[in-house]
Amino acid sequence: MQTHKYDVVIVGAGGAGMRAALESSTRTRTAVLTKLYPTRSHTGAAQGGMCAALANVEEDNWEWHTFDTVKGGDYLVDQDAAEIMCREAIDAVIDLEKMGLPFNRTPEGKIDQRRFGGHTRNHGEAAVRRSCFAADRTGHMILQTLYQNCVKQGVEFFNEFYVLDLLMNTGADGVERAAGVVAYELATGEIHVFQAKSVVFATGGTGKVFKTTSNAHTLTGDGMGVAFRRGIPLEDMEFFQFHPTGLAGLGILLSEAARGEGGILRNADGERFMERYAPTIKDLAPRDIVARSMANEVREGRGAGPNKDYVLLDLTHLEPAHIDAKLPDITEFARTYLGVEPYTEPVPVYPTAHYAMGGVPTNVETEVLRNNTDVVPGLYAAGEVACVSVHGSNRLGTNSLLDINVFGRRAGIAAAEYAANAAWVELPANPASLVDGMVEGIRGRESGERVADLRRELQETMDRNVQVFRTEASMKEALGVIDELKERYANVVVQDKGRRYNTDLLEAVELGFLIELAEVITLGALARKESRGGHFREDYEARDDVNFMRHTMAYRAPLAGEGFGAESALFADEVRLDYKPVTVTRYQPMERKY
Ligand SMILES: Cc1cc2nc3c(=O)[nH]c(=O)nc-3n(C[C@H](O)[C@H](O)[C@H](O)COP(=O)(O)OP(=O)(O)OC[C@H]3O[C@@H](n4cnc5c(N)ncnc54)[C@H](O)[C@@H]3O)c2cc1C
Repeated sequence: MQTHKYDVVIVGAGGAGMRAALESSTRTRTAVLTKLYPTRSHTGAAQGGMCAALANVEEDNWEWHTFDTVKGGDYLVDQDAAEIMCREAIDAVIDLEKMGLPFNRTPEGKIDQRRFGGHTRNHGEAAVRRSCFAADRTGHMILQTLYQNCVKQGVEFFNEFYVLDLLMNTGADGVERAAGVVAYELATGEIHVFQAKSVVFATGGTGKVFKTTSNAHTLTGDGMGVAFRRGIPLEDMEFFQFHPTGLAGLGILLSEAARGEGGILRNADGERFMERYAPTIKDLAPRDIVARSMANEVREGRGAGPNKDYVLLDLTHLEPAHIDAKLPDITEFARTYLGVEPYTEPVPVYPTAHYAMGGVPTNVETEVLRNNTDVVPGLYAAGEVACVSVHGSNRLGTNSLLDINVFGRRAGIAAAEYAANAAWVELPANPASLVDGMVEGIRGRESGERVADLRRELQETMDRNVQVFRTEASMKEALGVIDELKERYANVVVQDKGRRYNTDLLEAVELGFLIELAEVITLGALARKESRGGHFREDYEARDDVNFMRHTMAYRAPLAGEGFGAESALFADEVRLDYKPVTVTRYQPMERKY
């Protein structure tokens, strides 16, 4: 076992982690630990854009943006956080421009902007052009730009280090605080303990809970799982976004930019059905509404294709030159993966699991909360792993690339400033014991069940029962399967017993996080007897502000401890649900019409 000591340890090198690193590393000794090479992080797959009310191409302001974010999130958004994000958006884009990001330009040389779902002028009057973009490779450009700047600044990366535990200890004042993390090095199989004054989680999402997803194979919710096992609650996990336009049958994403640039959704009869569901902004309604409308067309028999199980995204009325300039990558995806030519044929699409609105709860300073009010000193989270609740129950397109930049920056500054003033906290005794027990437990097993089989069962039940439409019966069925999988996980076996590059072993560990998080998602959804944003209950179709305009907080009992890795302590016996009020500053909940 090796030990290291840094003032700040950042876990994750996606957009949020690297934006944090740029701030922290100029202020104090910082290490970035990442299970992927930084430039392979999922931020690089983001396509459509990053929004800010720059008003470069038409009138706009950050208050309209805030309103859209709050309404788009179906009023579960903490409005103080949304105000900060929308106000700081403008500088966040300009910072990236100064770092060298090649945004698309208007003929006058300003950053160009395009329409995206739910972004409107003057509180819903019409769609507004707010999304800044670099063709349909905006995330790629952000990730590369941040990485180049990190390299320039000499940020210290530990690549292919999987953080599998969070270390906490009680400080001199009797308050439990962050003390470091434990990581598994992929190349060697060695375990490393990192002592730190501040720990920033920036580990991204957990789309792999579902089978049909736009998310990369690596998005297994590790940061959420690690924190939860150590007693940190998870907030609003039942709110998962299903993006309307995944390639049918595959889930690979076709950016909403396709509709922002004029694409139209049609059913088997060729009808532009969104006119019925959102008469004002039609195909550019927020994602939850569009996804539900599509699923409804299919259910009511108006789906296209031999099995009538998808709808069509029609770009054929757009000029091929326009498609090539603005949507080159995603049209190539349609050709490559479905053999469809978007110039002349509509593209088969269906909703795909895309984004976790919930996560590790934080305040607007990105400090992690241990309950509704108290922070864990020294612990920070930003990006998709976190829930600062700027997205409420449904995130607007282009608000995540914004979130990771605004709150990533805030996390880097806050973590470094805390570290400058804080004393070192001692590491707990046997800091690596939990990870060691977990990893060796799996490696040492001689026979049992395969990771891929359990993962497939989990993902299939989540797709079938906890997707766009949910009912009490469907979710109870899912919980039954999850319970069974928790038991069977104790027998999971890997073929590769080696130490070097043992990805089999790490997939087994990741599966543990997925099972745990699937349970939290489903329990939260079962308890929320209303429909709001991405969470739609067929048995409770209305939004219920009296009983449910509040955040869900899920707590784990018992906590992971000694003997972790043994069947009894690996998963929560019980997940306790509590609630937290929503912060409302200026927008009272209204009926959500588009
Ligand atoms: C296909 C696709 C297209 C999208 N398009 C857009 C868009 O146009 N606009 C928009 O606003 N949003 C978009 N999104 C959403 C947005 O891209 C993500 O929410 C955002 O990029 C997440 O950034 P992040 O920094 O939080 O996480 P990520 O970029 O996912 O990075 C996570 C990092 O954590 C590390 N990590 C994870 N687990 C561990 C561990 N156990 N130990 C160590 N390191 C770990 C990984 O190595 C990685 O570096 C899109 C998402 C997808 C999937």
